[in-house]
This record gives sequence, structure tokens and C-alpha cells, in this order.
Amino acid sequence: MRNRRAALAAIAGAASLALTLSACGQNSEGGSKESEGDAKGGTIGIAMPTKSSERWIADGNNVKKDLESKGYKTQLVYGEDDPDQQVSQIENLITQGVKALIVAAIDNKSMNNVLQQAKDANIPVISYDRLILGTPNVDYYASFDNEKVGELQGTYIVEKLGLKDGSKKGPFNIELFAGSNDDNNTRYFFQGAMNVLQPYIDKKQLVVRSGQTKLNQVTTLRWDGGTAQKRMDDILTSAYKRERVDAVLSPYDGISIGILSALKSDDYGSKSKPLPIVTGQDAEVASVKSIIADQQSMTVYKDTRELAKVASNMVDALLNDKKPEVNDTKTYDNGSKVVPAYLLEPVAVDKSNYQKTVVDSGYIKESDLK
Ligand code: BGC
Repeated sequence: MRNRRAALAAIAGAASLALTLSACGQNSEGGSKESEGDAKGGTIGIAMPTKSSERWIADGNNVKKDLESKGYKTQLVYGEDDPDQQVSQIENLITQGVKALIVAAIDNKSMNNVLQQAKDANIPVISYDRLILGTPNVDYYASFDNEKVGELQGTYIVEKLGLKDGSKKGPFNIELFAGSNDDNNTRYFFQGAMNVLQPYIDKKQLVVRSGQTKLNQVTTLRWDGGTAQKRMDDILTSAYKRERVDAVLSPYDGISIGILSALKSDDYGSKSKPLPIVTGQDAEVASVKSIIADQQSMTVYKDTRELAKVASNMVDALLNDKKPEVNDTKTYDNGSKVVPAYLLEPVAVDKSNYQKTVVDSGYIKESDLK
């Protein structure tokens, strides 16, 4: 018996023993599909949210590559931003007898039942990038310092407006956008940004003309760029008749591109009407190009290659009876328990440092930016 999980399964009876043996990569001859081939570690299920954004495609491929280099097989599935589809994909992975699950959830509150099934089958679960809420059946969390992401965005805005060093006093007009309300990261990003922006809003050096300052007024379902574009259009029509918007807090590159489209349709970006500062996140190719073209102002780079390594190492440790490395055991309470986490550092990127940060590191190919 290689681990405690296998020991428990032995007590539970022959059927679950067979499952556990295959899940432990001990080739039971003629056994289930995932114990075939030369994958000494068995199969790991990877559930990603959507292919509509570059980062998740890269995340999926990187996790797959890292696990395969450690001798595991993988099953990578994408839920296409449909929470029900993602839940049934995970059910399928469990039925197939995967040995561990790495899940980047679409709706963080939709996982209770399916993760209970994982628990019952002794399958450990890593919450990938987005914390899964309301269930004790999440073993570890691999992510970035999500509040810091928002702080970087907020700090960029107050620095570029000259508020931070006091060289300008304002008032400047700002509008606020947040991510999807079913993604736990959304409130961390927004909180981080507001930690920086709120004092200036209180002093009226920053003015939100739309009046929409509460998180539940500024979220963007499923992080959809089109939805953000529509909201920005509406705000420009209703709150900016003669006034100009000077900055837009945007939590994600896809949303930033939508916001920029709305601004450009309203003549921003012309000689007489400069574009506002627009933040972003993920260092997606379209946005880095937009930064180079002086449209989007900044993005937050999170090296998802490193995140993939963290998650793969967690799985490998768990399946070898070792304790995964963590660096945070306090921040991420999912409502059921504090999930031990390993958090990586995000980096602010604009025109001045994109070459050094995202190109020289090999994250984006120079030729893709042409
Ligand atoms: C991730 C961000 C990403 C967003 C939209 C969040 O959970 O942390 O990196 O921009 O989802 O995909």
C-alpha cells in the first residue's frame, strides 16, 4: 500500500480497491484505461474554464506538460464557461478513475456535490488559480497574490495621473470594472485596487461620475469583453456628456479590449480626446500589442508556466505521501476551511518593461507581437 488513501480503499472493498490501485498507478493488469501505457503515475484530470482566453489554453497545456514529464497521463477538459458542463466533465473524470484533480472553476460555488464524489473516491483536489468555495473537499490552492494584482492596477492609475507623488491634485474622472461575480478572485482584485483608489475617491481627487462604485454594480459576468463594452458605452452616454473619463480600472485584458472599443467609438484616441489610462491583467498578446500601440496602458503579468509547476508539484507530492509546499495558510478561507495555498507574485507591465518581463522571459514570442 503506497499511501493512506489506498489503505482506506482496501477496507472499503474489492471494487474500490481496484479503483485505488489504478488511481495509484500500480498497474493492475488488464486494468482500467488510465493504468495502461507507460504512465507510471496514473492519470490526472485537469478541468479548465474556457478556451476563449489565451491564458487558460496555456495553463492547460503547461499543466499537462509538467505532469507528463513527471510520468503521469493527463485528461484535459475545457468547460467553455458553462458551469454545468464543467461539473459533468469532472464527474466523468472521477468515473474514469483519475488519481487527482486540478480544477480552475467557472462557478466557484457549483462544485459541492462533485467534489464530494471526488472525496468519496479518495481523489485529492487542487483548486487552480480560482478558489473553490463552500466545500471542505479542496486540498490545496495554487494561485497568485490576487489582492496584489488589484493593488498594482490601482497604483498604476494614481501614479500615472500624478496623484501619488502629489504633482497633480485632480479631480480626475475614473470608472470601475470588476470580473465575474462567480469567480472568487474578483473580490480580491477589486479589494486590492480599492485599497489604493478609495482614499483618493474619499478626497474627491478621483470622481466616479457613473456613481457605480460597489462591487455588485461593476462586475462583468464570465469576464466577457462584449458585456464590458456595452457597460462602458452606457456610462459614456449617461455620465460623460461634456466631461472626459481619465482612467478606467479594468481587471482583465479581454475586458480592457471591450472598454477600449467603447472609448474609440466615442472618439477617444483622437488628437483632441486622448484615451484614458486603462489597466488589464494576463499579458495576453492582443493587449501587449495594444500597450505597444499606446492604447491599453498596462497589464498584470502572471507567469502561468510557474503556476502550472506549482499545481503539478502539489499533485506529485500528494500522490507520493509528501506535504506539498505552501507559503500561505491564512488568506484563503473558502467558507468551509482555510485552504493552504502557494501564491506567486504578479508583475505590472507597461510599454517601458514589456520587453524585459514578457518577451525576454519567453512568455510571449517577439514575432507574435508584430
Ligand atoms: C484569473 C485571471 C483572469 C480571469 C479571467 C481569473 O480568475 O485569475 O487571470 O484574467 O480569471 O479569465
